[in-house]
Amino acid sequence: MSLASILVGLAVAIVAIAYVARPFRRDEPDWEHAIAQWVDTLGDAEDAAVNFCPQCGRRVAPDHRFCPGCGRALPASEAAE
Ligand SMILES: [Zn+2]
Repeated sequence: MSLASILVGLAVAIVAIAYVARPFRRDEPDWEHAIAQWVDTLGDAEDAAVNFCPQCGRRVAPDHRFCPGCGRALPASEAAE
């Protein structure tokens, strides 16, 4: 009888600890993940403004006149004017 009550008490304690510890363990990485995703979204928004070289496909900044990869002259973007 006493052994059974100890086992039940242990099981209840483990479940209680897991229940209490889970939200804290999951919330912290989730916050970092959410922030990282948000930063990635900002990065994607910046990437959308980046031009691509028509010859080699390399990403080039909108204000670049020549491709840093192959040296091809890039068409001036509307924002540069
Ligand atoms: Zn190029």
